[in-house]
Amino acid sequence: QVNRTPEIEAVRAKLPIIPEEQIIMESITENAVTVLAGETGSGKTTQVPQFLYEAGYALNDKIIGVTEPRRVAAISMSHRVAKELNLSTDIVSYQIRFEGNASSKTKIKFMTDGVLLKEIEKDFLLTKYSAICIDEAHERSLYTDILIGLLSRCVMVRKKRNDPLKLIIMSATMRVEDFQENSKLFKAPPTMIHVPTRQFPVQMHFNKVTPENYIVAAYKKAVQIHRKLPPGGILIFLTGQQEVRTVVSKLRKAFPRKDGGNYGTKSKSNENAFTKRKKKQSKGNQNIALRTFDLDKIKALPLKSGEESEEECGSENSEDELDDDFDSEWAVDNEAGGDPLHVLPLYSMLPSNEQQKVFEHPPEGCRLCVVATNVAETSLTIPSVRYVIDVGKVKTKEWDKLTGVQQFRVTWCSKASAEQRAGRAGRTGPGHCYRLFSSAVYDSEFEQYSAPEILLRPVDDMMLFMKSIGIDRVCNFPYPTHPGENQLVGAETTLINLGALEVSKVKGKHQKSFNSGDQSRITDLGKTMAHFPLSPRFSKMLALSFHHSVVEYAVALVAGLTIQEVFLDVSLDESCKGLKSSWAKLRRQWAGAGSQLLLGDNIVLLRAVGAFEYEGGTGEFCQKAGLRFKAMKEIRKLRKQLTGEINMMVSAEHELSLNPQMKPPTEDEATLLRQILLSGLPDRIAKKIDDSELKQDEDKKKYKYAYRCGELEDPVIMHPSSVLRGSLPEWVTYQDVFESNQKMYMRGITAIEPS
Ligand code: ADP
Ligand code: MG
Repeated sequence: QVNRTPEIEAVRAKLPIIPEEQIIMESITENAVTVLAGETGSGKTTQVPQFLYEAGYALNDKIIGVTEPRRVAAISMSHRVAKELNLSTDIVSYQIRFEGNASSKTKIKFMTDGVLLKEIEKDFLLTKYSAICIDEAHERSLYTDILIGLLSRCVMVRKKRNDPLKLIIMSATMRVEDFQENSKLFKAPPTMIHVPTRQFPVQMHFNKVTPENYIVAAYKKAVQIHRKLPPGGILIFLTGQQEVRTVVSKLRKAFPRKDGGNYGTKSKSNENAFTKRKKKQSKGNQNIALRTFDLDKIKALPLKSGEESEEECGSENSEDELDDDFDSEWAVDNEAGGDPLHVLPLYSMLPSNEQQKVFEHPPEGCRLCVVATNVAETSLTIPSVRYVIDVGKVKTKEWDKLTGVQQFRVTWCSKASAEQRAGRAGRTGPGHCYRLFSSAVYDSEFEQYSAPEILLRPVDDMMLFMKSIGIDRVCNFPYPTHPGENQLVGAETTLINLGALEVSKVKGKHQKSFNSGDQSRITDLGKTMAHFPLSPRFSKMLALSFHHSVVEYAVALVAGLTIQEVFLDVSLDESCKGLKSSWAKLRRQWAGAGSQLLLGDNIVLLRAVGAFEYEGGTGEFCQKAGLRFKAMKEIRKLRKQLTGEINMMVSAEHELSLNPQMKPPTEDEATLLRQILLSGLPDRIAKKIDDSELKQDEDKKKYKYAYRCGELEDPVIMHPSSVLRGSLPEWVTYQDVFESNQKMYMRGITAIEPS
């Protein structure tokens, strides 16, 4: 029934998982749950779905599901499996946040874990699936953990109903005890299969001293390897998109390709669009795709606030580090130029056609060099890597549990991650791993493993989701790792403040028996909020806006606030440098005056969204206005999706039509919008620090932009990009506070009262 090409068969035959097919399938047949651990590259993601397919798991109208914590992996792996099985992408499909090619013919569906969670909301038993593979379970993303908890119960019910669902938990590490030896999760420990691997030896090279600037150090190491060492691909691990792009551009300059270095990044990506100068302006385009939308195609997908955060690089964090000011540091001894190098970036936000390039053969006579974030650690295996350069760092978003201040922090990765990265060098032959840190630092400062996400971030969205599907006793949920009482109390408090939960009326002695998080029930407002694939704050804004005439603005605003990094960062692209001031001017112009100006950074966002559509939604406009093209397109999709969600909840006469090219809000509308923003941010309020509050000797200038935020002791500074810097209102709301260079900044600011 399967018709693979001989080439594919030959490649498959070499994968370590192939000889294990029978053992794996026997375990899956006999058990409800199987844990499968195997080195990255052993063939788990690409082969297990095919095993299931060949064993008939996609017959009788059932389908096979595979979840991935990363969008990149869902897309890339569905394409690969379709190709290996010689089937169309109608049949082997993917579904991620805003896009997908799944159809009624789909037999194998790759999706992000959030997509499957949303499906559980509609059908707790996931009846259309016969088998579900939870991939990359070792990453311990919040949604993966919750899925495993839910599925542990789901498989029991399905078994009783004589319609078994097979759960396969796939991990790239042997550290599976949270799933395996957790009697709350699975009464009897699930069968565990270990895929033995043929890993070639990788020689470790530690630095004697740990360099101060790891980005420069990584670049220099790559230059050295390329000049001195025998052929073989190079893979560099850095922490974020900006770092990747900096090093890619330096390496491309150092070793230009003979063919002029056409990396084929032409028109599609906005990144180079500007350097290519405008060709012709597409004006007055009336046919914007937003005009009509098909309600049947709109699905509610949860957004992952944590997704890709490790790559999402707050410009503030690294702007100074990455600026080009210190060219001398990058200088390497000027020997002969060296052979051309085929340098490719790899990070989650890269368009998928660009990502696919790392799997292709480099041009004749070129060495491949992939500069990646930790996407390349376990999700994607790049062929023929012989040299790994590991800076030993990882970027994570951290929340201060008390204050809610969030921060991107670059820290040492775990030993487990460093081992994974090194392993990438030994896939096709013996290799080398250059660790740009000393073995002493490795021994003393690297943690063995990184903590599961559920312990690191607020769980209010998770709690609202659970309460909305009827899981009230959130404390007793079979978590692979319990988030802890404090986390649950924190989330519950936020949701109670937002009016999504209410404390149940049970009084007296019974109350004592409740665990944290368990005593509240979802309110009607909470139920409405749970429908939206948004963080609870934003859901509340939408729910409220519905009672006024400003839903369409609220939709645009919430869509804009949900998508991160909407505004372009000057340090990203050298060709953008001269534009900073014109962008700032445009933003001031958008801010307008009066009640509109009081909306502050949010009117700028709103008008950016409207202007983008008005100007035809082009990448060129984005460059001119300092917007990130990909973000704007995601906002467009999200607006469409949210409008659809709302229309499904309301009667026909109230249905919204989506007018992409919004007019700016009137004075009254702007006032309403300010109130709505405030309702979603009841605990994110700041007050200007008054001169009279300062001690005599304190520098007044230093406190010019300083505010006092809730429980935070230190003053918080209005971010330099805020349009409210000119007026400094006394009371404001803000989206978030983050720390950078030992200062705290707030951004996304709106005035509560005129100053
Ligand atoms: P695992 O999930 O165990 O890490 P995979 O199934 O992802 O392993 O990978 C198995 C093999 O398939 C690897 O050698 C990888 O390089 C190859 N592979 C995966 N995706 C592609 C692709 N798009 N093009 C070519 N080869 C690929
Ligand atoms: Mg995999």
